[in-house]
Amino acid sequence: MSTYKENHYRSLDDADAFWTEQAARIDWVKPFSNVCDFSTPPFAHWFVDGETNLCFNAIDRHLATRAHQNALVWVSSEVEQTRTYTYRQLWEEVNCFAAVLKSIGVGKGDRVLIYMPMIPEAVFAMLATVRIGAIHSVVFGGFAAASLAARIDDAKPRVMITADAGSRAGKIIPLKPLTDESISLAEHPPKHVVIVNRHLDKSMQTLPGRDMDYAALAPRHKGEVVPCEWVESSHPSYILYTSGTTGKPKGVQRDTGGYTVALASSMQTIFATQPGESFFCTSDIGWVVGHSYIVYGPLINGSTTVMYEGLPIRPDPGIWWKLVEQYGVVAMFSSPTAVRVLKKQDVGYLTKYDTSTLRYLYLAGEPLDQPTSDWIEKGVGVKVIDNYWQTETGWPILSAQPGIEETPRKLGSPSFPVYGYNVKLKHEETGAAVSANEKGVLCIVPPLPPGCMSTIWGDDARFVKTYFGMFRDEQVYTTFDWATRDADGYYFIMGRTDDVINVAGHRLGTREIEEAIQAHKNIAEVAVVGVADSLKGQVPIAFAVVKDHRQVENAELAARQEKEVMATVDHELGAIGRPARVHFVTALPKTRSGKLLRRVIQALCESRDPGDLTTIEDPTALEQVRNAVQ
Ligand code: ATP
Ligand code: MG
Repeated sequence: MSTYKENHYRSLDDADAFWTEQAARIDWVKPFSNVCDFSTPPFAHWFVDGETNLCFNAIDRHLATRAHQNALVWVSSEVEQTRTYTYRQLWEEVNCFAAVLKSIGVGKGDRVLIYMPMIPEAVFAMLATVRIGAIHSVVFGGFAAASLAARIDDAKPRVMITADAGSRAGKIIPLKPLTDESISLAEHPPKHVVIVNRHLDKSMQTLPGRDMDYAALAPRHKGEVVPCEWVESSHPSYILYTSGTTGKPKGVQRDTGGYTVALASSMQTIFATQPGESFFCTSDIGWVVGHSYIVYGPLINGSTTVMYEGLPIRPDPGIWWKLVEQYGVVAMFSSPTAVRVLKKQDVGYLTKYDTSTLRYLYLAGEPLDQPTSDWIEKGVGVKVIDNYWQTETGWPILSAQPGIEETPRKLGSPSFPVYGYNVKLKHEETGAAVSANEKGVLCIVPPLPPGCMSTIWGDDARFVKTYFGMFRDEQVYTTFDWATRDADGYYFIMGRTDDVINVAGHRLGTREIEEAIQAHKNIAEVAVVGVADSLKGQVPIAFAVVKDHRQVENAELAARQEKEVMATVDHELGAIGRPARVHFVTALPKTRSGKLLRRVIQALCESRDPGDLTTIEDPTALEQVRNAVQ
C-alpha cells in the first residue's frame, strides 16, 4: 500500500510505469505500444495502438464470474416501477439494441443522439452505441428544442433515440414533440428516430418512414449476438456538452481506452467500491457524472449500479435512504444542490432507514459550503467527500482517495489532486505559481491524464485556444476556477474566474460572501453577484432562499432578516463583503444540472439582456429575481 502522496508523485514522475499498471485493470484485445504520445501538445494520445471496447469492459468481461449478479437496478418513483437486470440480462438487452442500431445502418464512427428520460433503455442505448464503435451524444431530457437542435447540428447524428415522454413530480413531460421540433429546426437532421414508447403520452405523433418504434424492432433482433467492435484507444466513445453555466456549451470529445482505464481505476481508488457492491449515483445520464458514475464506472468495476428516476423528495424525502437500505449501497454520489433540497425538509428522514452500509457520500458539481456538508454528514452519519471536476475531465481532479489512503478531511475542501493530474495554481496575470493561501487559477500541466477530453468535437483549434491559451509563459490547461491551497496541501475552490467582484479595488470571490451568508441559520441557499456601481465599481447583491418562507413574507420581517444577514457577513467576513442588498426569493435560477446561473442574475440586476436561457431549470425563479430588483 502506498500513501496518497507517493501514489500521486509516482503518477507524474514515473507516468509510463504507473499508467501501464492502471491499464491492466481493463481488458485489451491488442496491447498498446506506447503509454502516451504527447508529441503534438497539448493533444495527448493515451495507450497508442491499444485496442479495446468500452461495452466489452462494462459487460462482457464480467459474464464468466458475475452473470447472475445484478448489474443495473432501476427504480422509478415517477411511474412506481422497479426493474433489475443481471449482467447476463443487461448483455442480452444491449446486444438486442445494438442489433437494432446496426439494422438501421449505424456503424463505426457514426453519431447517435440519445435524448431520453432516466430509464434502463437509455443505458442500453449508450452501451449498444459504443459496442458497435459508434459515438453517442446524450442530451439531457430536460433541454428544449433549440438546445437540442444546436447539438444535432454540431454532432450530425445518423440516428436519434428518444422516448414518448419523461415524468417529473408525477407530471408527464412529452419528449417526442420536442424531438420533432428540434429536427425541423436542425440543418443536419438524423435519418431515423427510434422511439422507446413508455405509453405515458397517449397523444404522441409519429412520422412513418423516419420514426421507428423500438418495441416493434426489438423482437426481430432478440437473441442476436453483436460482436464488440474493437477500436483503437483514441477512438471517440462519446461527445458531451458542458452545462453552459458560463456561456455557449462546448462539445467535449472523449476517447475510449484512457476513459475506460480512468474509470476502472477511480472506482477503486476514489470511490473505494468493490466488484459486487452497490453504487448509487443520483445524477442524470445527461450529465458527465451520470456517464461516468451511473453507467460506465460501476459496470466496468463489476458493481451494481442503482439508477433512480424521480425527485429526492417524492414520495417523501426519505426515498434515497430507503434505496440505500434496500440495495445495501456502499457509496453514493450526489450534488450540493440536491443536499440543499433535502435541507429544507424534515431532518428525521435522514435517519428513518438503515444506512449503515454506506461508507461515503461523494458530492460534486458546485461549491460545497461547510454548513451543508456538516449537516448531511452528521444527519446521515456518513463521511462526505467533496470532489471537484468538470465535464471536460470526465473524472475527479481533486478528491480524497480513500481507496489508497484514508486522509483526514477538511470541511469545504475537496482535498488533494488526484493521481495523474499535475495541478498548478497560477497567478491570474503573471502566471507565476502562487504561495500558500493565495488565490490562483486552477490549471493542469499537460498532458491531461487518461479519461480527460481529447479535443472539442470537430474543432481542434477551439480546444487549444479555449483551454490552453490563458497564459503566455506556459501552455497549461485552464479550468477557469479560482482556488487556494493551504499549508497542509488542501485545496479550496473559490468559484469561477468570472465570478470575482471588484469592490472599491478589493477583489472578492462571490463564493466567500455566499459562505458567510450561509452561516446564518435561516438561510438555505444563496447566490451573490457583483453589480455595476458608479461609486464602488461593483457591489455584491445577494439573493437568498430562507428555510421557512413565513419568516420573510411581510416586508417588516424581510427587512429585519436582511439586517441580520448583513450582520452575519460583517462577522464572518468583514464589512467589505457586506452585500448592498439581500433579496429573499423562494428559488434561484439554475441550470438543469443544478448550477447557479450567476451570469443571468447579474444581467438582470444590471438591466441587461440575460442571453441564452435555454438551459434554465425553473423560469419562475428568474421572474422572482426580476421582480426583486425592480
Ligand atoms: P460551462 O463550462 O458550459 O460554463 P459548467 O462549467 O457549469 O458549464 P460542468 O462541466 O458541468 O459545466 O461544471 C464544472 C464546473 O463546476 C467546475 O469548473 C466548477 O466551477 C464547478 N464544480 C464542480 N465540482 C465542484 C466542487 N466540488 N467544488 C466547487 N465547484 C465545483
Ligand atoms: Mg465549465
